[in-house]
Amino acid sequence: MQNPIKKLNNLKELIEELKRDGIKNQKILEAFEKYPRELFVSTDVKNFSYQNSPLPIGYSQTISQPYIVAYMTEKLEIKPEDRVLEIGTGSGFQTAILSYLAKEVFSVERIRELYESAKKRLEELGINNVKLKLGDGKEGWLEYSPFDKIMVTAAAKEMPDELLLQLRNGGIAIAPVGDYMQYLYIYKKRDNKIEKIRDIAVSFVPLI
Ligand code: SAH
Repeated sequence: MQNPIKKLNNLKELIEELKRDGIKNQKILEAFEKYPRELFVSTDVKNFSYQNSPLPIGYSQTISQPYIVAYMTEKLEIKPEDRVLEIGTGSGFQTAILSYLAKEVFSVERIRELYESAKKRLEELGINNVKLKLGDGKEGWLEYSPFDKIMVTAAAKEMPDELLLQLRNGGIAIAPVGDYMQYLYIYKKRDNKIEKIRDIAVSFVPLI
């Protein structure tokens, strides 16, 4: 049977595919070049780094599909002065991409081993506008709130209220929500009211 996912052999092909699929933000494409995805996956799956598909990162977790990383980043409309909260550091790939666009990134990871390896990796890359925390992302990171933008990279049945409380007025949050059927939801906060917009269907590992 033919693999439905086209094999992309290198970063250049992946960038071309992202453009064809509608990613327009040049800064995001630059970030993909600056932080090659192969640096965020283990040796056994390195050959698949530039395929537009999720890959295992151990502990039953996955690094998201590159298109989804780019798409979610684009939807956040990140400005250089933004402080961004990310829930689910995982490999640190999405964190690195966010760090290229935002002023500061605060990322929370629940699994100690992933937290530690992401910390090491981001330090080795010389990324110094990221703060990582080991803990339950459903609680957000009160100490550094409010955030201009929030991205959740694991699916909850409902968007945790605490996260929307930590979103600044004028801010945007994006999260996969749902159980069997998941959708990306975009939340826009104005005058302390949340506008909730359902976006595309997705498939994420669950928020634990
Ligand atoms: N953004 C990641 C993809 C992560 S997969 C990347 O680019 O690699 C989802 C991640 O969310 C996993 O690492 C998982 O351990 C983490 N996670 C799941 N539930 C969580 C929670 N309650 N708080 C923080 N992190 C959580």
